[in-house]
Amino acid sequence: MRAVLTPTNLQELFSMLEQYPAALPIAGGTDLLVLLRQNGLRDRRPLLSLAEIQELQGIREKGGTLSIGAASTFSRIIADPLIAEHAPLLARAASTIGGPAIRNMATLGGNICTASPAGDSLTPLHVLAAKVEIASPAAKRIMPIEHFIVGPGRTALREGEILTRILLPRYASFPDYGFEKIGRRRAMAIAVTSFAGLVRRAADGTIETARFAWGSVGPTVVRIPSLEQALVGAKLDADYLCQVAQIVASRVAPISDVRATADYRRMLAANLTVRFLEGLLD
Ligand SMILES: Cc1cc2nc3c(=O)[nH]c(=O)nc-3n(C[C@H](O)[C@H](O)[C@H](O)COP(=O)(O)OP(=O)(O)OC[C@H]3O[C@@H](n4cnc5c(N)ncnc54)[C@H](O)[C@@H]3O)c2cc1C
Repeated sequence: MRAVLTPTNLQELFSMLEQYPAALPIAGGTDLLVLLRQNGLRDRRPLLSLAEIQELQGIREKGGTLSIGAASTFSRIIADPLIAEHAPLLARAASTIGGPAIRNMATLGGNICTASPAGDSLTPLHVLAAKVEIASPAAKRIMPIEHFIVGPGRTALREGEILTRILLPRYASFPDYGFEKIGRRRAMAIAVTSFAGLVRRAADGTIETARFAWGSVGPTVVRIPSLEQALVGAKLDADYLCQVAQIVASRVAPISDVRATADYRRMLAANLTVRFLEGLLD
């Protein structure tokens, strides 16, 4: 038997954590329960459910920031009107996660804390300049997502801390956005490579701002700031797109594993970027 603790607010959660310091936070359980099962269920630490905690729920807008509760499921994110208006890129990526049953359970906070290089919410959150809010009994701290995820499966979360909210600055909209993931099949598949892009263009069609991120091609999400800068004002023609592809292929750092070779991933990262930019030309 394993104890399952079900606090309903953060204060209760922290007092339970004080009593059971080894308890494992569980949100949707779609990563954690798989992991515990893989370990043969020998791990008997209590589970600390985050599902009923008020402070981890809800999606709201305040002072130019969109604040998403860490325990928001992907189904909720997809259906939320504020996300549809201010962060449709996140909704698009969310709609590719698992299948409907997984999206009803899996949470944004769980995806971030798992810190998988293939986590599908991570590339959108990076280009949207997301910050994460972390709480402990003593204090709250806020940090950019790129500082929070420090390696495959590793975050800046300290013992006794909980990821409470994800904060997105509310930008003037990016009319051109895209998320694509290539897996070994269409649904319920981990990304072999993924791409998220945001572009804003001037009246004459030239790029004003570009933000790109790639998943599954490095230990954490890959960004190439020099490419984003070079694209500002650039004329997108076939030669230029060829150069973009070469830059992307040379700057990502994938590994070979059971799902794909490093070379294939490099090629996919370049092709997904070019496909997105070609879409702008259309
Ligand atoms: C069949 C299947 C298909 C899947 N498909 C995809 C996919 O297409 N794309 C994708 O990215 N992922 C996929 N996943 C992985 C998983 O569903 C996601 O990573 C999901 O977002 C995890 O969220 P969760 O709420 O279930 O996390 P949980 O399993 O509850 O938790 C994961 C980890 O995060 C910690 N944690 C959770 N929330 C918090 C918090 N607020 N504060 C501190 N720690 C926390 C837990 O302690 C645990 O270590 C799939 C999983 C399955 C089983």
